[in-house]
Amino acid sequence: MNPRIQQLNNRLANQIAAGEVVERPASVVKELLENSLDAGATSISLDLEQGGTRLIRVRDNGVGIHPNDLTLSLSRHATSKIQEIDDLESVSTLGFRGEALASIASVTRLAITSNTTGDPAEGFSAVTRGENMAAEVSPAPHPRGTTVEVKDLFFNTPARRKFLRTEKTELQKIEDVVRKVSLSHPGVSLTVSHNGKVQRQYPQAVSEEELNRRVATVFGKTFIENAIFVESENNGLKLSGWIGLPNYSRSQADQQYFYVNGRIIKDKVVTHAVRQGYQDVLYHGRHPVYALFLSIDPRLVDVNVHPTKHEVRFRESRQVHDFLFRAIHRALADVRPAPDAAMGSSAGEHAFSAPTQGFMGFGRSAGPGFGSSSGAAQIGEQTALYGKLLESPPMLPESDEEEIPPLGYALAQLHGIYILSQNQHGLVIVDMHAAHERITYERMKKATDDEGIKMQPLLVPIALAVSEKECDAVERFQDELLELGMDIRCSSNESLMVRAIPVMLRGDGAEALVRDVLSDLVEYGSTARLQQHRDELLSTMACHGSVRANRRLSIPEMNALLRDMEETERSGQCNHGRPTWTQQSITELDSLFLRGR
Ligand code: ADP
Ligand code: MG
Repeated sequence: MNPRIQQLNNRLANQIAAGEVVERPASVVKELLENSLDAGATSISLDLEQGGTRLIRVRDNGVGIHPNDLTLSLSRHATSKIQEIDDLESVSTLGFRGEALASIASVTRLAITSNTTGDPAEGFSAVTRGENMAAEVSPAPHPRGTTVEVKDLFFNTPARRKFLRTEKTELQKIEDVVRKVSLSHPGVSLTVSHNGKVQRQYPQAVSEEELNRRVATVFGKTFIENAIFVESENNGLKLSGWIGLPNYSRSQADQQYFYVNGRIIKDKVVTHAVRQGYQDVLYHGRHPVYALFLSIDPRLVDVNVHPTKHEVRFRESRQVHDFLFRAIHRALADVRPAPDAAMGSSAGEHAFSAPTQGFMGFGRSAGPGFGSSSGAAQIGEQTALYGKLLESPPMLPESDEEEIPPLGYALAQLHGIYILSQNQHGLVIVDMHAAHERITYERMKKATDDEGIKMQPLLVPIALAVSEKECDAVERFQDELLELGMDIRCSSNESLMVRAIPVMLRGDGAEALVRDVLSDLVEYGSTARLQQHRDELLSTMACHGSVRANRRLSIPEMNALLRDMEETERSGQCNHGRPTWTQQSITELDSLFLRGR
């Protein structure tokens, strides 16, 4: 027999919707904080009990809710943030779906109290009851703003309650949500209490110093010293934020925050672009640390692709990808020994090896892209060892006017591995092989960049069976492929003919590479495979062509190496992401000998 159809009651319908947005206490906190921010609050306090499962109370000083709207605020598909479909396209608030409060109310005991006036004796409160979730409103004094009190999460949906973790875990997840908000809304003061005790306080941050302090609360104190502030703008896209120096990387991708118009998101195009920006300077298997804020015309990004709004879709994802990649790549390339090398303690637990290095901050003039000494190194040329003799510079600066270069002047070679040098701050130690390797590598890259990619026609074209999607990509990205030195045509809708490949790939797994390139183009609309592949080859060559340990260098040779480091992009890391130099200040040396105590 055909089962009959019936309308679900209101509460059940909301509970089903809650399945998507209310997973755990942290998701409730996220929705409530977003509402407070949308209401223009400058101060928000969050009270929790038992990891938020017993109580979540969010109090703000925002615009409040009109008494006549209180009931409506708790019903599904009710919002003050959009009215028509055009509004959705350019939405600038964090919320807009009008379902959070209704969903939360259906699986908790929720009360909302609000006042839109400046008179603290005013105010109304609403709660919902029964299967129909009918709201009851009663007067309740409250200062201007809103308090939402959520008790007993999943009290009526025991099956879902079973998925909750320990109090500690749930609390950590809530703190993570608060951290994310704290970074994107520095002007809002935030207080978190748990079981009656204040856990975290984020005072309003306006000045640069306060802002840095807030960033430090999230990432730890040493982050700012080991980060570059990035600021970049192009074609209506604006990026700002902090990216950690390569040495300040982590074993997990757990400190990566990316915001689009103030909304934290996870997006594979973004992750890929940032990762690619770090290409070449990150030690294998390490993850960069960053907090980046992208502003983009809201019409160029679709925020309504996921109920929790954790994901977005860019209309021009390729443009966004390239913009991000370039901004980060550029900023990291400028990291090299600088005259005003930041001094300080080591990067602590974050750094897997922690030299404190100075860097040329973004925005400061970092000189021409490549050092003038890069010359015309050719691939395969066993780069001459440092035969380029400089006038032997003074061992010690004779007068204050004498400008001492950032890495100073060489004193000696240690065990055939390290160069010891004296600069303004104290002692510099350089891993000569690692440093030379980077210099050689950057020169080789420059030389091949200048030459462009040369195409090599294949005598016998390679036939490849591929998916229909990949065939489409080949047609769509014809120009890009040719630019990459690849002449590929579709021979049917599931097979390809590779007729020419870049010269440097000859006899080198061309088929696998073509497949990887196509899958990148399908996924991200761009690919860096060829460049990566080329860079790997160059890196190997650079390694072999670089000065080996135990090779004796004269003082002028060592000084020439130091000067080259100062001019070479990314010279703070070798090709494998290991640091190339470190600084020991006089103060640090003094403390070793208990001097000045
Ligand atoms: P949305 O945020 O998607 O509009 P919600 O269910 O989260 O949907 O909230 C419904 C409405 O209730 C909001 O549009 C807003 O008008 C109002 N509201 C909720 N929380 C607050 C708050 N803290 N301050 C002011 N208004 C609020
Ligand atoms: Mg909302």
